[in-house]
Amino acid sequence: MSAPTVFVTGAGSGIGAAVVAAAARRGARVAAVDIDGARAAAVAADAEGAGAEAALGLEVDVRDDTAVAAAIARCRDELGLPTAVLANAGIELNGPAHEVAAEQWDRVVEVNLRGAFSTARWAIAALLDAGSAGSVVCTSSPSAFVGFAGGGNAAYAASKGGVSALVRSLAVDYAPQGVRVNAIVPGATDTPLLTVGVPEDRRAAARAEILERAREQIPLGRLADPAEIAEGVWWLWSDAAAYVTGSHLVVDGGLMAKGANSF
Ligand code: NAD
Repeated sequence: MSAPTVFVTGAGSGIGAAVVAAAARRGARVAAVDIDGARAAAVAADAEGAGAEAALGLEVDVRDDTAVAAAIARCRDELGLPTAVLANAGIELNGPAHEVAAEQWDRVVEVNLRGAFSTARWAIAALLDAGSAGSVVCTSSPSAFVGFAGGGNAAYAASKGGVSALVRSLAVDYAPQGVRVNAIVPGATDTPLLTVGVPEDRRAAARAEILERAREQIPLGRLADPAEIAEGVWWLWSDAAAYVTGSHLVVDGGLMAKGANSF
C-alpha cells in the first residue's frame, strides 16, 4: 500500500505507540491521539524521526465524542484523509463484580467501547464524505471470548465483547462503500497495562511474575511484543486484506487455543 494517513487512539503507550512507529517506518502520515497530550506529542516526534512523512500528536479523551470528531477533522485537514484507523485507547480497572462501583464500570465501558464507537463512526463519516474506501481496526481482547483466569474482569470483558460485536455490525453496514472494519485481538502483550493498579514499588516483581507465568502458560512461552501486534494491524489496514472485513485477527501466541487454561 502506498503510504496512507493513519489515525491511532491510545497512541501514547504500548500497542498504539508501536503501531504509530510501524506506520512511520513505512513513510505514512500519522496522527497519534491520546488522553495524555505530552505522550502523544512525544510519539509523534519519534514518528517523524523514524520516517513518517508528517506527524501530529493530539490530546483527546475518546470519551468526548465531539473531541474525537474534531480530531478526525484536524487529521484530515492537516495530514490528509485518514484511510487507516485504529480505535485502540483502552483501560482496565479490575475488581470483583459485586464490589465494583457503578462509576468504575461506566468508565471502562465509556473508554473501551464508546471510545471505539466514536473513533470508528467519525472516521467512517469522513470516509463517506470523501467517497473513499478505508480500513478501520478496533482493539479487542481474548476476554471478549474467554474468561480471564485472574478474574475480576467483568467490566473490561463486557467492553471488549461489545467492541467485537461493534466491529461485525459496522463491517456489514459499510462494506458496500468499501470501508472494511476488523478487530485485532492481542494476547498478553508487554505494555504498562499488564501491571496497571500495582503500586510502583511492587511493579518490577509483578512483571517478573507475569513473565514467569507467560513462560509456563502461553503456548509460545512468552508475552507478545507490541511491535508484533502492530504488524497484524498493518496487515488488516493493507490491500493484502482487501477481502477481510468483520473479522478478528488473533495474535496471542496460542493462548486462546488452550481454552480453559487461559493466561
Ligand atoms: P497502555 O496502557 O500501554 O496504552 C493505552 C493508552 O491509552 C495509554 O497511552 C492511555 O493514556 C490511553 N488512554 C487511556 N484512556 C484514554 C482515553 N480516555 N482517551 C484517549 N486515550 C486514552 O495499554 P496497551 O496494552 O497498549 O493497550 C492498548 C489496547 O490494547 C487497549 O484497548 C487494551 O485493552 C488492548 N489490549 C491490551 C492487551 C495487553 O496485554 N497489553 C491485551 C489485549 C488487548
